[in-house]
Amino acid sequence: MKRIAVLTSGGDAPGMNPAIRAVVRKGIYEGLEVVGIYNGYQGLIEGKMEPMTLGFVGDIIQRGGTKLYSARCPEFQTEEGQKKALEQLKKHEIDGLVVIGGDGSYRGSMILTKQGIPCVGVPGTIDNDIPGTDYTLGFDTALNTVVEAIDKIRDTATSHERTFIIEVMGRDAGDIAVWAGLAGGAETILIPEVDESMESIVKRLNSGSERGKKHSIIIVAEGVMSGTEFAEKLKDYTDIDTRVSVLGHIQRGGTPSGRDRVMASLFGAKAVEVLLQNKGGRAIGLRRNEVVDYDMQEAFEGSHVFDLSMYQLSKELSI
Ligand code: ATP
Repeated sequence: MKRIAVLTSGGDAPGMNPAIRAVVRKGIYEGLEVVGIYNGYQGLIEGKMEPMTLGFVGDIIQRGGTKLYSARCPEFQTEEGQKKALEQLKKHEIDGLVVIGGDGSYRGSMILTKQGIPCVGVPGTIDNDIPGTDYTLGFDTALNTVVEAIDKIRDTATSHERTFIIEVMGRDAGDIAVWAGLAGGAETILIPEVDESMESIVKRLNSGSERGKKHSIIIVAEGVMSGTEFAEKLKDYTDIDTRVSVLGHIQRGGTPSGRDRVMASLFGAKAVEVLLQNKGGRAIGLRRNEVVDYDMQEAFEGSHVFDLSMYQLSKELSI
């Protein structure tokens, strides 16, 4: 292994920049040449890449987003697109590739691995939902962003004695909703993993207001329904005055938290170590607080382990 490349793909996540920095610096430290590919698989197909220097990744450890840009690339899902990508990798004499992204990006990298270019995946998605790892880059920063927003909304909720419905990201996974709900003291959390009846939700809201609660915070993960839809639904059951706040893309941005920077550095460096052993089709992850590499197939076939006990605890603490 002489020359490796790195790209970021799919939705951006805080922590991608420190991960790129770690791959580039660890690679150079180990005597490798490191190439940066711009715009994910789209840039790979188009040959948009250049050798990285130590300086290129200077001053990015604290920045959100990705200096290499990200993209979704439908062309790469065709045989024709994959052929072009492989030709570019061969033309630029790239022996191995680090792909930072979600499970879709992993699937793309698996195709390249099978065609003879060893690829290693680094989990970069705020949703924390890649099977096989307890942590994905960006989750902690997104969590802090949501908690900060809840705290601010709570001031208004209290002042006006209102119930606020806050819609957060999470199409298939309720991790952001549950962690933020627990940290923000939400009364009700709606997540894709649990189907709670409207009757039970309303009962809890009513018992809160009966004991004199001035406000309520309801967190809705977008995968369940939109905040507005939930507010409409609630009207059929209660007269409680609600307001909806959709946090949207602010959850994907911002300066990566300390935890995300450290995890990104550990994951990025581990990815280089794995490539140095000529291993492809591997994913980097955290298991029981240890950074590991595992068969990427597990990320496709396994299911994300959701901690139901945290959801349960949030209910117990919001009686
Ligand atoms: P996130 O879910 O956080 O947005 P992701 O990596 O899952 O991240 P996707 O949009 O699913 O995001 O995938 C990113 C890119 O990876 C796609 O645009 C496509 O180029 C490539 N890709 C995804 N799935 C496949 C697949 N099955 N085969 C080949 N390439 C794929």
